[in-house]
Amino acid sequence: MSLNESISSVKGIGEKTEKLFNKLDIYTKSDLLKYFPKGYERFDEIKHIDEVTEGQVCAIYALLKGGVAVRSGRRLKITACEVTDGTGVMSLTWFNMPFLRSSLKQGVHYVFRGNIIKKNGSVKMEQPKIMSIEEYTLKQKVLQPIYPLTKGITSLMISKAEKNAIKELYAGLDYLEPKFRKEKDLMALKDAIEEIHFPKSDDVMLDARKRLVFDEFFLFLLAAKAEKSDMADKKSIYKIDTDIKTKKLIADLPYKLTGAQERTFSEMEFDMKEGFIMNRLIQGDVGSGKTILAALALCLVAENGYQGALMAPTEVLARQHYDELTGLFDPLGIKVTLIVGSMSAKEKKAAYELIASHETDIVIGTHALIQEKVVYDKLALVITDEQHRFGVKQREKLMAKGDKPHVCVMSATPIPRTLAVILYGDLDISIVDELPKGRKAIKNCVVGNSYREKAYSFINKEIMAGHQVYIICPMVSESEKTDAENVEDYTESLKEVFDPRVRIASLYGKMSADEKNRVMEDFSNGKIDILVSTTVVEVGVNVPNATVMLIENAERFGLAQLHQLRGRVGRGDAQSYCIFMAGNTSPEVMERLNILNNSNDGFKIAEEDLRLRGPGDLFGIRQSGDLSFNIGDIYNDASVLKEASDAASCISTNDAKTILEKAEVFYSNAFCFGKEGNVL
Ligand code: ADP
Ligand code: MG
Repeated sequence: MSLNESISSVKGIGEKTEKLFNKLDIYTKSDLLKYFPKGYERFDEIKHIDEVTEGQVCAIYALLKGGVAVRSGRRLKITACEVTDGTGVMSLTWFNMPFLRSSLKQGVHYVFRGNIIKKNGSVKMEQPKIMSIEEYTLKQKVLQPIYPLTKGITSLMISKAEKNAIKELYAGLDYLEPKFRKEKDLMALKDAIEEIHFPKSDDVMLDARKRLVFDEFFLFLLAAKAEKSDMADKKSIYKIDTDIKTKKLIADLPYKLTGAQERTFSEMEFDMKEGFIMNRLIQGDVGSGKTILAALALCLVAENGYQGALMAPTEVLARQHYDELTGLFDPLGIKVTLIVGSMSAKEKKAAYELIASHETDIVIGTHALIQEKVVYDKLALVITDEQHRFGVKQREKLMAKGDKPHVCVMSATPIPRTLAVILYGDLDISIVDELPKGRKAIKNCVVGNSYREKAYSFINKEIMAGHQVYIICPMVSESEKTDAENVEDYTESLKEVFDPRVRIASLYGKMSADEKNRVMEDFSNGKIDILVSTTVVEVGVNVPNATVMLIENAERFGLAQLHQLRGRVGRGDAQSYCIFMAGNTSPEVMERLNILNNSNDGFKIAEEDLRLRGPGDLFGIRQSGDLSFNIGDIYNDASVLKEASDAASCISTNDAKTILEKAEVFYSNAFCFGKEGNVL
């Protein structure tokens, strides 16, 4: 029996369910077992009405006093009632659940559990769950896993499938020796997987989680180590003798390079001209102008008779780079070719031929760049943009396409120095810490829901002035909804708010690559006024005419990620604005968000983000804008990252390779994040 078998061999998964699971990127048993809960539902002690706190999920045990009223709102049927527990009265409302009028009985006590909100000065619950006290007491005894879902799949279905798949785990699966585990105080892999899905207690769950987070960091670091050793021979075979075209490119730019850009490029140039193999990370805040640095380095290898490749995590970004670099390179007689997943087989074949025959100098694309069929001729430089979106394996694959090429990775995620040293210990680092002159600083504001109407009218004004707007949609909290449904619902409701002439479109990760390209192109060409999106827009796109970003539920994002998002505006000459809309305005939330209000400096924000993290964040705010680990989060799990790093540094390169091979049995492909067409 193999964990790589299709999930259709798991008891209870038929053809139809299999398709639904596939939608969640679960294909094999090991995919299923690695589909970890994103959190656990906790059923805390019941609270008195006079003790509940705004913004928290609470349970009360209260008596239904009067009747239950149903009225029709603009789009919804609203059911409302009042309950009391002797310490106070609370009003409850439900949307589209008119049947409650007959099922809730006057004079009966119920447990009501839901998010506490404040309206007109008094606390209330919207959409609370209703239970008997007996039901509630039972639930209090276990931690209920919460899985990210899609339409047609419930948490219960996933739990059942996990239960069956877990039976196939065996002790020998663990790639770590018992002695090593004991030293590092790590749970066995088999137990950790079982406990993460069905924890016996909080403590055991935390131990299980620690083991799995450790694995992710540890294997990532070992993979980086193995990669580095393959480059141990630091001498490059690519001779760089001339830089005439590169100098001309710089001279013909419509702007002068910033000091930081000049310094960084001379570091890159030095590596390549001196005959070393470049292995460099370029870290620069959003908008600091990294693309031109990539262009210059690519120009340098091209004019010396070599090929260069630039890999971007999304088609949208790859196309944007392609357009920009074609414009720069055409006058210099340097040829650029694009390869992306959505191209037809015929187009791809033509591109492959151009590359193999060296008729093209520069190749730009997505993961499609590393497919088997692409054969390069003298690939001397490999650049990956927004590198945090790629796994080590993908970078490795691209490097394997050349013969020890120069490697440069670019990241717009300013991460705290202490973490960068661990994660990128194998790379030289250049920091682009200066923005081009003349940029107007983005004006920020942090507001609560009550400001929404004003925000919309402000947005309307900007649109009338010919500008464009991003709205980052609230994240899905109710797990019944998918991101896609959520974005679409929000978009529909916006259409009711704005004049029909305002063109509104939506964008989310699960759209096909073609659809995403079309939407981004339309937005880029000014054919869309408001783009409602999930965080997919966070990656590198450049639409200078967009001047407003409204971020809903800003409190649910990490600060560094919010900063990345905000970087989509403030790219043109006009004044730009970022509105952080907080779903709750508790003092802690406001303190955190105000850091963004007061600073536009990504490094400073990242440091603060790390400082403000507490133990409660393990399943809370994730920094999904950063290295895309599955369960670990470099901020929340900084201490485990340190442990993994210490452990990895004691392991020889040869042992590292052996360990990685053993780990493949369960973690196959785990370090090759981002399936094509899946990440935008
Ligand atoms: P990022 O570092 O976020 O990738 P980009 O490379 O997309 O930033 O650059 C953002 C914008 O700044 C682009 O429109 C680019 O043409 C412009 N730009 C880059 N360098 C300079 C400079 N030195 N002076 C003025 N504008 C610049
Ligand atoms: Mg960029």
